[in-house]
Amino acid sequence: MPRRTIVPGNANSKLLPLRLKIVQTGDPVLRQAARPLLAEEITQPEFDQLIGHMRETMRDAPGVGLAAPQIGLPIQVAVIEDRPEYSQGIAPEKLAERERVPVPFMVLVNPQIVQASEEMIEFFEGCLSVAGFRALVKRARHVTVEYLDETGTARQLQASGWFARILQHEIDHLRGHLYIDRMEPRSFATIENLARNGKDRTTQAVRQALGLQ
Ligand code: ZN
Repeated sequence: MPRRTIVPGNANSKLLPLRLKIVQTGDPVLRQAARPLLAEEITQPEFDQLIGHMRETMRDAPGVGLAAPQIGLPIQVAVIEDRPEYSQGIAPEKLAERERVPVPFMVLVNPQIVQASEEMIEFFEGCLSVAGFRALVKRARHVTVEYLDETGTARQLQASGWFARILQHEIDHLRGHLYIDRMEPRSFATIENLARNGKDRTTQAVRQALGLQ
């Protein structure tokens, strides 16, 4: 088999960022463990193109994170970006409750959670590969993540709240996990029904309504 480049195409041609198809749950690529990227792969021109395509695809969706398996590539690469405009129109108390603050665009290669708090917090979460649905998912409130950035430099970051949730969600993708593996099954809802039944309800109120406590 010929050696596969991470992104097809001529490395010398300047490709405009493409909006790629986001694969949906049921596609086997979402269920396999992605392989780590080699240092020399990060310095290939194709890698920059891949990141450009992933950024474009994530922004177009729009989403706050995208992992390579979601565009059909079983490699350990994810991009994250929580733009300030995504939080416009969300009540300040809701943002505070979720500890949600903007996150600048970032690239994670071969990320690993090296520390996770025992304290868990539960909110509705969705996924571009489970389009149209949300469910309650418990996540560690604080995590420490080690990864390589887009230059191949080893980095470590500490994150809390919504950013920590995004990191856990994306790193799950690289291990073949989806949020539906971790969700509270009775809370699984279409986005429409969630809105209709009061998307501003607290997690506590939702749990009570579902007979979960
Ligand atoms: Zn996802």
